[in-house]
Amino acid sequence: MSASPMDLLRDDLRDFAGYRSARSSRLVGDAWLNANESPWPNPVVGADGLRRYPEPQPTALRAAMAARYGCLPEQVLAGRGSDEGIDLLIRALCRPGADAVVVTPPTFGMYEVCARLHWARVLGVPLEDGDAGFRCDSDAVAETVLAGGAKLVFLCSPGNPGGNLLPLADIDALARRLQGRALVVVDEAYIEFAQAISAVTLVGRHRNVAVLRTLSKAHALAAARVGCVVADAELVAMLQRCQSPYPLAAPCSELACNALGDAAWQATRTRIDAVIEERGRLAHQMAQLPSVARVYPSSANFLLVRFTDARVAMQHLLRAGIVVRDMRAHDGMADALRITVGTPSQNRRVIEAIAAMEVAA
Ligand SMILES: *Cc1c(COP(=O)(O)O)cnc(C)c1O
Repeated sequence: MSASPMDLLRDDLRDFAGYRSARSSRLVGDAWLNANESPWPNPVVGADGLRRYPEPQPTALRAAMAARYGCLPEQVLAGRGSDEGIDLLIRALCRPGADAVVVTPPTFGMYEVCARLHWARVLGVPLEDGDAGFRCDSDAVAETVLAGGAKLVFLCSPGNPGGNLLPLADIDALARRLQGRALVVVDEAYIEFAQAISAVTLVGRHRNVAVLRTLSKAHALAAARVGCVVADAELVAMLQRCQSPYPLAAPCSELACNALGDAAWQATRTRIDAVIEERGRLAHQMAQLPSVARVYPSSANFLLVRFTDARVAMQHLLRAGIVVRDMRAHDGMADALRITVGTPSQNRRVIEAIAAMEVAA
């Protein structure tokens, strides 16, 4: 077992206890008068279940996440989407104005946003754009971490926007090489669409691996804002001390529990299969169109597409009422759009709108 990830924490937070909320002490009684809550439910809205503050880490939700993701409940930090996890990891590990994080562009923008807000340096190791799609050079990542003294590496698998899955063996080797030096964070927001083994399986083996999971994509609960960090139990306990006292609204954590249960998960898998099938069809049809220069292989629920003229493609799509993600402002993406896989009829409309480009041109 590798070195404790607690050595990676900010020195000044080592003995940090965080806020002691009324819900954090284990007291027993039948008249709860310790948190200044109302003794009655809201007179109009009702909802007696909402009268009291929620559990900081809802036991049922943690258990449901642990069962679904394949880890122990104490290795789960539930929170307000994986965005909160990204922010907490940076705040707990990086000294503002001193420490750095490594990202692999093109990648999810929140790593850099959170790092900059926290005044952490951001070191980029670009993905390689090869014939088989994007690829991460983990030697270059390791060297950049070690040379730059970075505390965190954010990997995204499947990648957003690249759609590429990172080989688990590479993540495993990187974590081993960086043990005691940096935490390897694997953002698996789209892993359900990859039908691959999750990096959660590495958490027991390497204490410096953390995995981000979310209910926002495959589980169709983006508005509920529920996600988690799966990591070493000691690190999870520390992250909780850095988290706001009641991060999860009770109705949202109940919804999330239901969504993670067996019945809902079976039904969700059928939807995931449908998305995967549509993704294949959309990629195939798109690749036939003369105005499409390249469709990247995707293990996620979107396609990254390069066009002969992305501006015109965007215009055609918007005129057809279809809104896609414009990637043109990103480095090396001046000709690219990211298109979420929609319903079969939405996907047909995408193809028709882009096919119409030729007629117009
Ligand atoms: C959508 C997405 C998320 C999800 O964030 P939530 O805060 O859980 O909604 C995380 N990472 C990546 C790469 C994403 O694309």
